Amino acid sequence: MKILNASQSEAIAEAARIIRGGGLVAFPTETVYGLGADACNPMAVARVYEVKRRPRIDPIIVHVASPEDAKLYGMFPDNFANILMTRFWPGPLTLVVPRTARIPPIVTAGLDTVAIRMPAHPAALALIRESDRALAAPSANPFGSVSPTEASHVADQLSDQIDLILDGGRCAVGVESTVLSLTGPVPRILRAGGLPAETIRDVVGELEWSADALERPEAPGQMERHYATLTPLEVLEEGDPNARPRSGERVGLLSLTDPEGCCTYSAVEVLSPTGDMREAAANLFAALHRLDHLKLDRLVAFPLPERGLGAAIMDRLRRCAVRVSGSRGPGGKR
Ligand code: AMP
Ligand code: MG
Repeated sequence: MKILNASQSEAIAEAARIIRGGGLVAFPTETVYGLGADACNPMAVARVYEVKRRPRIDPIIVHVASPEDAKLYGMFPDNFANILMTRFWPGPLTLVVPRTARIPPIVTAGLDTVAIRMPAHPAALALIRESDRALAAPSANPFGSVSPTEASHVADQLSDQIDLILDGGRCAVGVESTVLSLTGPVPRILRAGGLPAETIRDVVGELEWSADALERPEAPGQMERHYATLTPLEVLEEGDPNARPRSGERVGLLSLTDPEGCCTYSAVEVLSPTGDMREAAANLFAALHRLDHLKLDRLVAFPLPERGLGAAIMDRLRRCAVRVSGSRGPGGKR
């Protein structure tokens, strides 16, 4: 499978040809790597669902290169949309609004609303512009597994099922975009992500959260179990007796800062030695990929403070930790 350097214009030109021809290209964004298809080509979008083994009830985010283009695909309300786009685009904020007829139902899983964002990575913007298409792009990984933040993660997980990978280095933000619904009177967060809720609230004033997505999914795609490692992971307080390896057990630890007395673990991943949440988010998925590759008995993550990007990180860790009975996990099979 082909991997091209995303900073080269010939690579972008080839990727754009593939998109226009109905193919699939994995491309870098500032959040995670996306698996892009022409959003207005239902056959191409169908292949995205197939390659990812993504349930057809889980809508896909449409990526555009300007607020003007966004308005071709979504009907943006007068209240907060313009100010949010001006302040936070390009960037890790996805807006959910009523869709226009240009968007085929397969993109939105049949919903009357569409999720749209303008990514900040120059290669993503170049690809959208050069192909002259909006890109329907979920994360470039099999559904439910750990998201890719490096081109090698995409190659490891999707290898020969896609047409091209554009390598744009490590994703700077490292967690998916914040998904914000503008369909009601008050903006509502559907998914915590790369733009902290506090920052959005500073602009819109009042902000709602969807009901705890783990208990009562409100939007399709707020899947209970997601971002999952093959090795079972638990989120445990540092003092919890289960947070320590039992004798003969090989346990990996994911911690925000350097933990004390960590020598009993088989591997330790520190997300940010200084406790910086941005750095932690940027390192999160790569650290999970590394721990998972070691094929340890289990993984433990210490909880992070849920302020700023900590909310998005904890959301990912909690979903990673959910075990589905009868599947992988303690007592289950790999
Ligand atoms: P992903 O592309 O996997 O990062 O996830 C996109 C997520 O955005 C979905 O799983 C939904 O939670 C959310 N989303 C996308 N489209 C819509 C929509 N029309 N209405 C509500 N949520 C949406
Ligand atoms: Mg995903």
